[in-house]
Amino acid sequence: MTQFTDLGLAKPLLKALAAEGYVTPTPIQAKAIPSILLGRDLLGIAQTGTGKTAAFALPILQRLADDRKPAPRKGARCLVLSPTRELASQIAESFRTYGAHMGMTVAVVFGGAKYGPQIKALLGGVDVLVATPGRLIDHIAERHADLSSTEVLVLDEADQMLDLGFLQPIRRIVSGMSRKRQNLFFSATMPAEIGKLAGELLVDPVEVRVAPAATTVEKVQQSLLFIEGPRKRALLAELLEDPSVTRALVFTRTKRGADRVAKYLEQADVSAAAIHGDKTQPQRERALAQFKSGQVRALIATDIAARGIDVDGVSHVIQYELPQVPEAYVHRIGRTARAGAAGIAISFCADDERGLLKDIQKLTRQTIAAFDRRNDKVLGAVTAATTSGPSAEQSLPQAKARPQNGQHRSAKPHNHRPNGHQGQGQPNRNRRRGGGGAKGPANGAAKPAWNPLQA
Ligand code: AMP
Repeated sequence: MTQFTDLGLAKPLLKALAAEGYVTPTPIQAKAIPSILLGRDLLGIAQTGTGKTAAFALPILQRLADDRKPAPRKGARCLVLSPTRELASQIAESFRTYGAHMGMTVAVVFGGAKYGPQIKALLGGVDVLVATPGRLIDHIAERHADLSSTEVLVLDEADQMLDLGFLQPIRRIVSGMSRKRQNLFFSATMPAEIGKLAGELLVDPVEVRVAPAATTVEKVQQSLLFIEGPRKRALLAELLEDPSVTRALVFTRTKRGADRVAKYLEQADVSAAAIHGDKTQPQRERALAQFKSGQVRALIATDIAARGIDVDGVSHVIQYELPQVPEAYVHRIGRTARAGAAGIAISFCADDERGLLKDIQKLTRQTIAAFDRRNDKVLGAVTAATTSGPSAEQSLPQAKARPQNGQHRSAKPHNHRPNGHQGQGQPNRNRRRGGGGAKGPANGAAKPAWNPLQA
């Protein structure tokens, strides 16, 4: 297996990688690093979580160090464009981490923050500038930034740029840059407009594709809970009661929805915070810091705000609402199972979201075990349409219809309750009502039923 030491990286980079504990490059790193080191343009089809930041940061740092020169005044030797502030901060952090022994200067520029310090940082020039397009354009318009001698341009999460309406700003930024530069273009998906932009920017690019969307998420154990819309909040609070849910990222479709859910959880005594585009930068940073430190167990996010969030150890991703765009389903569940770890994703689906669910199934072509929690019924497995049959792990065993009065007809353990810690922990409604399930394997079932909260 390829190791970082096989990729021709300089010692200071290997030292920084060793300090991070990274030994083996991820597939995109193994494929992209050698070509970028050769100065080639690159089209990377990969999503967050694949290690793509290091895939471009490492070879860029090496090339800048190999040809050391002063950073251009008001400019940057390398410009990385990011759709969101969070992602911009994280990319800058990665450059700082990997370049720790190289003496490179890194600055980050995004909206919602004061202009003064950004102008100051730009003035003398930096080796690496990470920016969101809107704010960068402001700096260019005010002549605080001049990118005419930038040597490397990275466009990260290009499809997200499209969603945010950043394509024209990007074209404007690029129009002020020298044509003599290396271009690296990353996108999780390739809608036509993104393909067009890539065609405009890239010259004879090497194309690197890592595991298409549907397969990068194989490590995530997914399940679906059918539930009436108005009962989602209570179901969420119920799931979060389970101690195995140590760090849950919860997705809503709207900013207001995120606020409402966070408020409800707080009232239900679950520590929660919301993060979305209407929050101020300090609010976002605080929410993220609290989530990272474990002070809040549930972070309620919209897709855009969550896109750049890189938090290790997200135990569960809960989709409170299914996304409008099926690709977002894959991005969302990719927030757990970071860098190869296993993860659990649970999605709520109300009746009016069935159409969205179909689109997701078409895209992922995976079996998703489903529980029916409507009317508090716990019906058996409704496995999503698939090409491959349900695997033993994915199909729902022995869950059968349970009468609504709570009396179990089946002698087998249903273990239908998503928090699945029957017999211990907090008392809960189902346990009180349905003692049969609580007894578990004592009833004679050899194997406990598959449980959506536990991998
Ligand atoms: P990214 O796709 O760039 O957002 O990276 C996803 C996560 O994987 C980040 O937390 C990185 O720090 C981590 N990571 C990147 N490369 C490696 C590697 N080769 N080995 C282990 N973890 C890595």
